[in-house]
Amino acid sequence: MDNNRLQEALMMERKKRLEYEQKYMSVIDHNLDPIITVNRNGRIAYANTAVHKAFGYRLKELSGRAIIDLIGDDKVGDFKNFLSRSFSGESIEMEGILFFHKRGQYLSAYVKTIPVSVRGEIREIHLILRDTSYHNKNNERLLFLSYHDQLTGLWNRRAMKEHFNVDAEYAIRSDEKLSLIHLDLDRFNTINDSIGRNGADEILKRVADRIKVVCPKEGKLYRNGGDEYIILLQNHSIEKTEKLTQKILSDFTKPFYFNHQEYFLSSSIGISVYPDDGTSLEELLQKAEQAVRYVKERGRSHYRFYREEMNTSFTDAALMEAHLRRAIEFNELELHYQPQVNLQTGEIDSFEALLRWNNRKFGFVSPAEFIPLAEESGLIHSIGDWVLEIVCRQLKEWQDKQFRPVRIAVNISSKQFRTGAFAEKAKNVIGKHGIHPSSFEVEITETALMYMKDTLSTLQKLKEIGVTISVDDFGTGYSSLSYLKQYPIDIIKIDRSFIKDIELDEKNEAIAKTIINLAHSLGMQVIAEGVEKDLQAKILREADCHKAQGFLFSKAIPASEIVEKYFT
Ligand code: C2E
Ligand code: CA
Ligand code: CA
Repeated sequence: MDNNRLQEALMMERKKRLEYEQKYMSVIDHNLDPIITVNRNGRIAYANTAVHKAFGYRLKELSGRAIIDLIGDDKVGDFKNFLSRSFSGESIEMEGILFFHKRGQYLSAYVKTIPVSVRGEIREIHLILRDTSYHNKNNERLLFLSYHDQLTGLWNRRAMKEHFNVDAEYAIRSDEKLSLIHLDLDRFNTINDSIGRNGADEILKRVADRIKVVCPKEGKLYRNGGDEYIILLQNHSIEKTEKLTQKILSDFTKPFYFNHQEYFLSSSIGISVYPDDGTSLEELLQKAEQAVRYVKERGRSHYRFYREEMNTSFTDAALMEAHLRRAIEFNELELHYQPQVNLQTGEIDSFEALLRWNNRKFGFVSPAEFIPLAEESGLIHSIGDWVLEIVCRQLKEWQDKQFRPVRIAVNISSKQFRTGAFAEKAKNVIGKHGIHPSSFEVEITETALMYMKDTLSTLQKLKEIGVTISVDDFGTGYSSLSYLKQYPIDIIKIDRSFIKDIELDEKNEAIAKTIINLAHSLGMQVIAEGVEKDLQAKILREADCHKAQGFLFSKAIPASEIVEKYFT
């Protein structure tokens, strides 16, 4: 090969190498991931532009520096190991190393190595880095979500579990106690019914905010789901805990606002104490809940510390529910009928159907006790259907026997009414038995009427079918009377509490008379409940009350006795 040709070949070779190097460098340089090249001494030989973006350094600031200087202290050992393994030819990766940003903070990074082998010898390695702190931020967000209630932003049950373990251990070590305060809103479903789910959610947030304000720094506030809140209060003393609960209860006397409307809420509070009432969170939650139930059964809007005696009533309720579940199947339910007496004529042409439950374990249970249980557990639907069926069957039987026409009133729980299908159901069962619709009466409590959405349309449907509609326990609901005019109501039933001392208490007498006059002026009938004394009947008769029912005339009795007494 002559000189010229040799020169040419070398030029070509150099050009090819240059081209190759440029290609190679541009792969590194334009790579979106930060890449740092480290030589065998652990010094930085090269850094691409992405390094500047991610970690703030330009090449000239890094060139020649020891890579170890940029790694977080506690990871240095691991990282050295990692480097030496790479120099032995392995392409490996490592997560969670802390890489020092120029501005001074450590960023969490993922690193992968590519050993650069030249003629079988590894002179350098490329470190391909990825800033994972962004993902960590996402993780933090996920972490936040998994420990907080989304609606209120309060801690959730999961957080409670973890905090409890720590707090309980601390309490033991420092010989202190811990109280678990369980707060449950009273009758929150009436709020749900009247302003809907979204409105109720808003109120739940406001409740959370209000409790947060008074929660002391030794207390942590959790949402336990639904309308329940829990406070874990460290360094418990009875006085301290009482002070807090009293503060919360008194705060609830102020209204909550939603859409410029005032809503009054109250809450019932039950408290259990660690370690006196239990050593596990489950046990403490359960006992605080028993205390809450105890408060609710005794008028609500109060607080109680858990006591041993509360235990029995709770087990009974759970057991009773289990028995109630099978009451229909076991033929344990029966309807009794209480006559309603015409005060002017003494005639009886209507009755109220009242449930009786005779259970093999509990004996006779009052509906005042088991109806709330049935409502809570949802059993009210099957029980309510059963009542409708039996009453219609009864009316049909009496109709077929050609007894004089009478009417039977059935108590309808707001839960049944609320399904929206109630009118349809009534229509079907009336149609099925072929009874006169007006001989069938539905009693709906005043409070239930007030708070129900779509009340008017259901009532109108019932009216179209032709059933009789009465308002039960009238006078105990505390809202405006304007709805009386709007709703197609036939009968008002004056609540027993106004009749009770009517002969002694002028106020009650005045209320009863006002209700009677109101009914007259609206063209409705009026029935007084719970009449026990002659004198009461006399006062009512003179006030022009149409009918009365009560022990003075008769308690509720089985159908067979009704037939005996009133139809033969
Ligand atoms: P309520 O609708 O106000 O029924 C009247 C209650 O007063 C009945 O109690 C009745 O036995 C009682 N009573 C009648 N006359 C007198 C009296 O002169 N003095 C006194 N002190 N009490 C009298 P009961 O049967 O224990 O029912 C209690 C409540 O249970 C009822 O109150 C009603 O709300 C509910 N209930 C009863 N049966 C049913 C039913 O079939 N379905 C639904 N949803 N609720 C029912
Ligand atoms: Ca009733
Ligand atoms: Ca009543």
